Parts: sequence; structure tokens; C-alpha cells
Amino acid sequence: MAKNYKLLFQKFDVTPQDEAKYNEIISRATTFDEIEQVINLFMKDYVLRMNASLNNLIADTLNIALSSELMNKELLTVENTFIFSSNAYENTLKANYAIIADLVSGGAADIIGSNPKVQKMITEKLISEFNARIEGAMANTRADVLNYTRKLQREMIIRNRQLMLMNEIGGMEGAIAREKLMFEQNMLKKFPQLEKMLKDGRVLKSRTFLNSAGNETFRTYTLDDYTEMSVSETLKNVDRDSVEFTAKYLNEPVVEFYLRDHRNVEEANPSCEHIMQSTLWGVPLLATSQHVANVLKIWSVDRARAEHSLEISRHCRHSIKRASDEIINKVNKLVNIAGLTDQVYPVEV
Ligand SMILES: [Zn+2]
Repeated sequence: MAKNYKLLFQKFDVTPQDEAKYNEIISRATTFDEIEQVINLFMKDYVLRMNASLNNLIADTLNIALSSELMNKELLTVENTFIFSSNAYENTLKANYAIIADLVSGGAADIIGSNPKVQKMITEKLISEFNARIEGAMANTRADVLNYTRKLQREMIIRNRQLMLMNEIGGMEGAIAREKLMFEQNMLKKFPQLEKMLKDGRVLKSRTFLNSAGNETFRTYTLDDYTEMSVSETLKNVDRDSVEFTAKYLNEPVVEFYLRDHRNVEEANPSCEHIMQSTLWGVPLLATSQHVANVLKIWSVDRARAEHSLEISRHCRHSIKRASDEIINKVNKLVNIAGLTDQVYPVEV
């Protein structure tokens, strides 16, 4: 059974037909909501199906460790298969994601009137963000599952040492069968975590972080929650990234902050409210550099992010768009005047 998993994930490669379908939807898209349809289709067509297979693989790996022969020489094969297969999962997901990231960033660049250079920057950012997220989780999960199978194996050997010695003398098949049944029940009693892991699918671990008490800790996720976060959220941030990259690339000093999605009301986010109230000429603005932020006494895009605005994971429905030529001209004048003032009265730093 374990061997079947070795090639399992290759069948989830994005087909040329689906790629063409996604491409067509994106080429007709005039809003980011239309681009999101492709992200949702991709999640449904590929990611969720692959996740179900990886969940089965993890459950099988742990079940084999539970029910295998007493002196399990196959355990190493099971472990290797698990490593190969979860690597295959990770690589397939990355390859599929790269295809979608490029399509999505191309569509986004078209909508905001950007150019191929900026599109390339957005694609690279999307991919590096995604890779960092998925690599951390997969590496931790592999280590976790393997440590767990080894722990089960150790318990099994200690518990049955006497029986194994007798088995070497011979004629213990019936006792071994009984013992295995008991072993499985005892294992589940001893490690309720195992049953819970299998039932809840809470097997993916986040990278470790320090909690409020200063202790190293981690979160667990279902695979679906985790990939939704890694794939979908990263891609859905694309309009914000595209606008920011384009504005910076064209040396535009500010971008406009606005409520993009009226359908759902996010939980009141004090930083979003603060930005909405920081208006110049009646428009909420964010600076693309710290210098401009200082001159205009408004927040920068980086500051907004640091204060958890513009975050999909916090259900922020705000976004940014390129400011009008009129506002950009006015801001450039103010920044130039501030620059002249600096020259007349240089400040020692
Ligand atoms: Zn918001």
C-alpha cells in the first residue's frame, strides 16, 4: 500500500486545458474579484484534492506503525515512503502554485496598468512568500510524523520484549495475534493524541514562535486551513502588492487607501480606521516611503502592514489603489518644498 503513494501526487499537475481555462478567465477580468474566481477554482480543482491524499497518507503511515508486525523491519520503508511522498506533495503544490501565481500577477498588472517588469517582481514575491510558508509547515510535519512513528515503535518493542524473546524460541503466533490487538488498544489509550490527530487532521505545525509568556510554542492546523492560508491568502494579497510595486517602481509618493470589499464587514480594526481618517484633500493616503510619510505626517504602506492593516488573514477588506495624477503632483510639490527647507536648515543626525 505504501508504495502506491510514491507517484501519487504527479497526477495532480495542472493540466494544459485548465491552465488555458484559467488564462481565459484572467484575460477577460477587469476587477480583482474576477481574478479571485480563478484562485477559488484552483483551490477546488487541485489543492483540496491533493490535501485529501496527503491526509490519507499521514493516517496510513501512523496506522501502519500501529498495526505492523512486532519486529517491524518495514518501518524504515514506511518512513522513506512518507518522506518521498510528502516531498512529492510539496513539489507538486509549488509547481502548480507557480503557474497560478504568474497568471494572477499578469492579470493584476493589466488591471492597474503596470508593466512586465513589475509583473515579474510580483510573481517572484508571491512565490517566495508561499515557499517560505509551505516549507516550514511541511518540514515540521515530516519531523513530527516520523518522530511519532518511532515513538510508537519503541513503545511496541519495550512492551513486547518478553514475547519477542519467546517468539525467537518459536510457536507463538496465536499469542502474538492477541498481543497485537491488545497493543493497538493500549496504544490508543496511551497516546490519545494519535486518535485525535487522525480524527481532526490537525497535523500541520506552524513554525515555532514565542508566546506571551516567552515560551517557544507552535500552532496546529488542518491541512485545508493551512493551504487556504498559504495559497489563497498569498494570492489574494496580489492587488495590494501590485499597486505597491507599481507605485514604487514609478516613484509615485503615495497610494490611496480605500474599502475594497463591501460584502463583509471586517472586525473593527483600529489601524484601518486610523488610516481612513488620515486624509489629505479628502482622500485617505499611505506613503510609499518613510521620507514622504514624515513630510506628510501620514503612515507608510509598511507601517500600515506592521499595524495589521491590509491583512487578508485578519479579514481586512481594505486595499490600496494608485493615486490620481492631481494628488501625486500636489504631494511631489510638498516633498520638494520640504527638501528645499532641509537644504536651508540642515539637520545634524
Ligand atoms: Zn481593513
